[in-house]
Amino acid sequence: MSATALRLRHHVALGLALAIAAGGAMAVATTRADARTVRATLPGAVAAAAGAAVAGGLDAEVAGGLDATVAGGPAPAGVSASAIVPGSVNRTSLDVSATYDVDVRLGVAARTVRGTVTIGAGNRSGSGIDRLELNTVMARLGALRLGTVTVDGVAVKPSVDDQTIIVPLGGVLPSGADAVVVVPFSATLRSSLSGSNWLFTRANGIIDMHRWIPWVSRRRAFDRPNHGDPFVTPVSPLVTVRIRSDAPLRYGNTGDRVAISADGLTRIFRAVNVRDFVVTAASDYRTRQVVVGDNIVRVVYRPGFPATAALDAAANALRKLEARLGPYPYKVLKVVQSAGAYGMEGPGVAWIPTGTGSSNLRYLVTHEIAHQWFYGLVGNDQAREPFADEAAADFVARSVLGSRRGSRCATAALDRSIYRYSSSCYYEIVYIQGGNLLDNARRRMGGAAFWAALRGYVADHRWELVHTRTLLDALDDATLLHLATSWDARFPTLY
Ligand SMILES: [Zn+2]
Repeated sequence: MSATALRLRHHVALGLALAIAAGGAMAVATTRADARTVRATLPGAVAAAAGAAVAGGLDAEVAGGLDATVAGGPAPAGVSASAIVPGSVNRTSLDVSATYDVDVRLGVAARTVRGTVTIGAGNRSGSGIDRLELNTVMARLGALRLGTVTVDGVAVKPSVDDQTIIVPLGGVLPSGADAVVVVPFSATLRSSLSGSNWLFTRANGIIDMHRWIPWVSRRRAFDRPNHGDPFVTPVSPLVTVRIRSDAPLRYGNTGDRVAISADGLTRIFRAVNVRDFVVTAASDYRTRQVVVGDNIVRVVYRPGFPATAALDAAANALRKLEARLGPYPYKVLKVVQSAGAYGMEGPGVAWIPTGTGSSNLRYLVTHEIAHQWFYGLVGNDQAREPFADEAAADFVARSVLGSRRGSRCATAALDRSIYRYSSSCYYEIVYIQGGNLLDNARRRMGGAAFWAALRGYVADHRWELVHTRTLLDALDDATLLHLATSWDARFPTLY
């Protein structure tokens, strides 16, 4: 939290106002000029920090720990000089530190999702960039429509390609410089679980919104022949999401709630160090929780869900995964009943689909929680190198459960993208064969050396994006066995 926290102190991002430090000069742009009627009804320190006011029926919301340097009255918008310089370099990068401030309205019956994301983007790539490539499933599943997209207050002309919004910056953003990108959007939730619809839908009484906030990424094809995750997302140091719904909802999502309106319809959530902000909501969610060490494990579920079994599985998984891999990075771990289809990982969240059978529940909970380390803490391009997250997560899950088994598909390469595995064998090859390869390494190295190496890999690459080869090298470097000589045939592009 050191360097990151310092930078965060310059950000006040609650959907009310945004202040971005750029080259030492502070630009303040109020987004709600009439926000002057403060009624601080929040408890304690949070309300005390409030210098902010809110429009739209909210009583008070300022997150504790954020500097509340919100302008007391209307301030001129778009004040400071932009760091963007004329020219083009035909380049973007994943090495962009981005905060996301999202203000969104949910129309529950109409399935509408309308809002604005304000991205404070800092180019940390060592070279200039002239566009951002923003990932959102809304472009493929939500009939996405964009409003006027601006960069440092200047309108630009974005294009949408597959699941990617390409935002030209109107020039070159030099390395080390920051820009503010505002993307107004509207979309419609799907109503089924078929295909990939389950990622962005309202079905079975539950709203699912996965990978929806337009997020700094690279162009990756959404369509794939299996259930692989076609995403790559760098960690954001701060995400603030202000959700207003037109009907009462309860939520199970990434981050912590920092405010709620008197009518209960508006909530503000905040998350630190996350690769996504997953939202799941239902009118009748209930919760059950247990303390595990210094964490809280919480199951968020509708009536009929096997909450006790899920809570037991999650507590067991967290305890054993922390013992093997090091600390879980957040305070609360939520196991959330999703609308259906597949289990899915999100930061601080494990989605367990409606209808999961009791015979599969314990495994699914453990696998999705294992992703908190492999995908969450140590990230990777899930589309191009699924081994790095799926083989590792499944290996540790089956280690916890003692459920290792043989593959039901022929032996195949483990270094392919998700686009090159069939639906019937993707899981059997990447998860099962990949996990068995890691388990063979454990047996050859010995448990002590193997787990120390894996813990070291997690610690060394915390919050980074790595490659399959990074994981393999971390293991191979921890032994004199030259494991690579037995691996090279399985990773023909890596050795
Ligand atoms: Zn997985």
